[in-house]
Amino acid sequence: MPGQDPTKSTILIIGAGCFGLATAHRLALAGYYNVTMLEKDDVVPSRFSAANDLNKVIRAEYADSFYTDLSVKAIQKWRSDPLYRPHYHETGFLNVTSDKAAQVTKDVVTNYLTSIKGHPAFKGQFSTINGAADVKKVAPAFSGPTAGWTGYFNKMAGYGHSADASKAVYEDCVKLGVKFVLGSDGDVTGLVYASRPAGKVCVGAKTRQKTYRADKIILAMGADVSRLVPQIGPQVTGRCWGVVHIQLTPSEAEALRGIPVTNVRDLAFFFEPDRATNKLKFCHMGGGFTNFASSKNGLSLPFAKLEDSQFIPLDDEAYIRTLLREVLPQFADRPLIDAHLCWFADTIDSDYIIDYVPGTNASLIVLSGDSGHGFKMLPIFGDFVKDILENGSQNIAKWRWKDSSRIKEGSTWRGDTATQELVGLPRARL
Ligand SMILES: Cc1cc2nc3c(=O)[nH]c(=O)nc-3n(C[C@H](O)[C@H](O)[C@H](O)COP(=O)(O)OP(=O)(O)OC[C@H]3O[C@@H](n4cnc5c(N)ncnc54)[C@H](O)[C@@H]3O)c2cc1C
Repeated sequence: MPGQDPTKSTILIIGAGCFGLATAHRLALAGYYNVTMLEKDDVVPSRFSAANDLNKVIRAEYADSFYTDLSVKAIQKWRSDPLYRPHYHETGFLNVTSDKAAQVTKDVVTNYLTSIKGHPAFKGQFSTINGAADVKKVAPAFSGPTAGWTGYFNKMAGYGHSADASKAVYEDCVKLGVKFVLGSDGDVTGLVYASRPAGKVCVGAKTRQKTYRADKIILAMGADVSRLVPQIGPQVTGRCWGVVHIQLTPSEAEALRGIPVTNVRDLAFFFEPDRATNKLKFCHMGGGFTNFASSKNGLSLPFAKLEDSQFIPLDDEAYIRTLLREVLPQFADRPLIDAHLCWFADTIDSDYIIDYVPGTNASLIVLSGDSGHGFKMLPIFGDFVKDILENGSQNIAKWRWKDSSRIKEGSTWRGDTATQELVGLPRARL
């Protein structure tokens, strides 16, 4: 917006999940006083948001030091900013494989360890894990055999209570004057375009009831993005992982207080029991499931109704039971509750897409491709969007709209993310 005070622009953000809330908050803090958010759920955090969850891993080790540096910055904010600090728990991160893991999966953890060793931010922050005795040192509460677990423990990591943090950001947005339209009035069914001398521009969004107009439209719809911008389909796919909880009693939860976030890469990952509900959360991070069935144009999209996502695949349950027998056998047969699929927007290289949609004359921005590792950026993500809004273009090459013709023929969306890093896909997850 050269020559114009950007804070005077009207901004419409579609989707009040992690990326949308972070953006609205940052813009409101910077003095943008005309920011409206449209959200299809009637509550925030939205039940459709991947960030509406008990917890998400916050850690900084990446094969790509670009994300390491950003995550270190985000962690500093999680630790120090009064808005985020109450929701961050620095329990450490135990990243390992079990003795039965395939060699390629073991090698992925070794690659992570190599990236940690090579980055100054982790100096004095990690130890290697070689078997049960090392596991016991960092997680004395684990009662199972944990035999042959290998990997590392990183102290400079933990988890964020993602639903509570999202709620805190939402409430601060309201205080700062961001307008929210929730429920069916905020459920966007299409974008409105106009023809201008410069060419086509996006001028608004419509719901069943109303059309909302603005100078800049920002799409932050998570895995649903291609419903409104189907041309993003070749580069972003809606994908999900299964999440379940087990219910602990207060004394069982107390015994596990402070355990590290534990990712046994070939089985599943889990966190310390939730402090409010005493629930333990588990997720098997396989390749992620797609749903191509409900779209006519070959896109994988989340199920439209929440109730259709209330299950996990049986295979996932088997991995979680195996993990429980390894680590907390006393709970191995406890019912798995709250089963649901959690949807995210996946890119082939795990890079986010934060860019103007081509052919819209810098009127429509897409925030997408979180690839399952976006939540940790909540405290700083809004900076990324403010930058492109004020620069008029994306200067960071890896976050640009990808040239679909260069997405390799034969690249696979399927496969096991526990191993993809080794087959040429630098997958950065969680
Ligand atoms: C199982 C799982 C585990 C994860 N673990 C981690 C982790 O450990 N660490 C980490 O950093 N990240 C993790 N993530 C990723 C993280 O949750 C996402 O990166 C983040 O939530 C992406 O934010 P988003 O705003 O793009 O999407 P979302 O948070 O999903 O929000 C999208 C929003 O758009 C709204 N919306 C959709 N369509 C419309 C419409 N038509 N009109 C209006 N509103 C609409 C939705 O209701 C929702 O509120 C995980 C994700 C999953 C699924």
